[in-house]
Amino acid sequence: MSGVEIEKGYFGQFGGSFVFPELQEVLDYLAEQFERYKDDPEFKQEYLYYLREYVGRENPLTYARNLTEYLNGAKIYLKREDLNHTGAHKINNVIGQILLAKRMGAKRVIAETGAGQHGVATATACAMFNMDCTIYMGAEDTRRQALNVFRMELLGAKVVPVSKGQGRLKDAVDEALADLVSNYKNTFYLLGSAVGPHPFPSMVKHFQAVISEESKRQILEKEGRLPDAVIACVGGGSNAIGAFTHYLEDEEVRLIGVEPDQAATLTEGVPAVIHGFKSLVLLDEQGKPRPTYSIAAGLDYPGIGPEHSYLKETGRAEYFTVTNEEVLEAFQLLAKTEGILPALESAHAIAYAIKLAPTMKKDQIIIVNLSGRGDKDVEQVFHMLKK
Ligand SMILES: *Cc1c(COP(=O)(O)O)cnc(C)c1O
Repeated sequence: MSGVEIEKGYFGQFGGSFVFPELQEVLDYLAEQFERYKDDPEFKQEYLYYLREYVGRENPLTYARNLTEYLNGAKIYLKREDLNHTGAHKINNVIGQILLAKRMGAKRVIAETGAGQHGVATATACAMFNMDCTIYMGAEDTRRQALNVFRMELLGAKVVPVSKGQGRLKDAVDEALADLVSNYKNTFYLLGSAVGPHPFPSMVKHFQAVISEESKRQILEKEGRLPDAVIACVGGGSNAIGAFTHYLEDEEVRLIGVEPDQAATLTEGVPAVIHGFKSLVLLDEQGKPRPTYSIAAGLDYPGIGPEHSYLKETGRAEYFTVTNEEVLEAFQLLAKTEGILPALESAHAIAYAIKLAPTMKKDQIIIVNLSGRGDKDVEQVFHMLKK
């Protein structure tokens, strides 16, 4: 696969693994097992089988004719991750990692979740693969996302509220890591984005790369050429890296990541070690991780996958921010023109496409990665628009 991983686990100065020795041993073993299986034909066949029969891939690359005509510029295509089972791209990675967990003989899967989307995807796959499932979630988040907690419980998962620290995502990650170190013999930690110490960023990229593998084949079939730009929203960076992977070596394709202006890690971050790896991080004046805010829960994280920091530094990818107002307008415009409610996360990518398309020629092409569907966000948008 194309990529820019230079030395194992490093993307330029970014990435690596900065953890305590007991955890490092567990990660070394995981890295070794991932290397062993990732290109194994039987493993690959099984992964593709579940993507097809359970997730519903390949999903379409839909030409957004009405939105294109409305904006009167470049042709816009939507990569429809919103049509996957469970409604977003996260399941691609979950299926890949759970198959690896099975090969490694794990009987138990643990995961962290913020708003609950990764927890639901993990609980879903654990139900299907008959794995014991424990989800760590900040106590504050379990209160705000009570319905997702119930959803995970319906799927047979045990949800553990974490009240240590601030009771948020970071505290849930710490608890999950402590569990992993005590139970590594039978437990697999299924991480939800392209973040964390090596091998997680490379592993999550590997399983999300199916997005650009498909979109490249599809755009060549439909248009006979590559797109001029690929746009994706960026939280931890997994849907974006998956949407970019197979275009990394096609220098003529612009790769564009879009962040909320109040969680602008790539635009305003500085190099630092956070959560066991080096990347761009939003710090406050005392050098502590700065609190972020986003109307899209999936983008509300002060760190970013190390490969995006590298792509930013080398200039291969560009990163921009959009405001909440622009995101809400994009949400409504896609609904009205195309009959598609995007996830608020994905609406960030749409919002940037709305700005970019009219500056381009009509024979140029933009692919927007529609990372998820917006049903989960309708109530929140209702409250924001009625205010
Ligand atoms: C979780 C999520 C994101 C953000 O995560 P990445 O790892 O940056 O992709 C984006 N969109 C949707 C729909 C999500 O559920």
